[in-house]
Amino acid sequence: MAQANLISTPSVKAAMLAVDRGHYSRFKPYEDAPQTIGHNSTISAPHMHAAALESLAPFLFPGAKALDVGSGSGYLTVCMAEMVGTQGRAVGVEHIPELVELAKQNTKKDHPEFLQNDRVSFHTADGRVGFPQDAPYDCIHVGAAASELHDKLVEQLNAPGRMFIPVGDENGQAIFVVDKDKDGNVTKKRAMDVWLAGTMVSQYAIFFRTYITNNHSRHTQICKDSRNDCF
Ligand code: SAH
Repeated sequence: MAQANLISTPSVKAAMLAVDRGHYSRFKPYEDAPQTIGHNSTISAPHMHAAALESLAPFLFPGAKALDVGSGSGYLTVCMAEMVGTQGRAVGVEHIPELVELAKQNTKKDHPEFLQNDRVSFHTADGRVGFPQDAPYDCIHVGAAASELHDKLVEQLNAPGRMFIPVGDENGQAIFVVDKDKDGNVTKKRAMDVWLAGTMVSQYAIFFRTYITNNHSRHTQICKDSRNDCF
């Protein structure tokens, strides 16, 4: 993905290399496609995680506090924790308790120390109201498509701060980037369209395989044939 310019920020590349998707997806973890994680949920495709981290990177500085709404497998929350460093925190919120437990178990296999020292935490809650207990956040990632831009989430953004949020319905989604400046002024920009069909997935799959082959030899070994499930 770095070679294809889908990743250009060194800290994003480092985080995605440091967090092994093999611990977060039972099925084809190194394919650039969403995969089921049970409970009618999916882990997002790597190119979507990369796009989110690239957009939020200026607000994932060492010491920052990040909120991941709809944390699912926990993969992106742990990437955020990786980027904010030992003085920062990443908070994951998910409304399915079994997935909160799954995210904790996945993180335990990958970065148990993050849970021990509270660099990452996962909570069962309705993400539409954010997670006021730990607000404000330097950045907020929303993994679930929202029908609208919820005020509570905007309120919980720090000034300055940034939110990456898909807004839409089953007919299609658009990603919006909401910026709050240091004086509290809020602006909203449409960043990219997301097709629910596989168009984008197939477009980027080839780039992701190249990235795996060149940068992560253990992944290449596990997934020699990307059509096989990678347990
Ligand atoms: N980013 C995660 C999951 C993406 S799928 C990953 O890549 O693993 C979106 C997730 O949002 C699902 O796990 C779903 O259960 C969760 N979700 C949907 N609506 C929610 C809500 N209102 N509050 C909290 N989580 C929600």
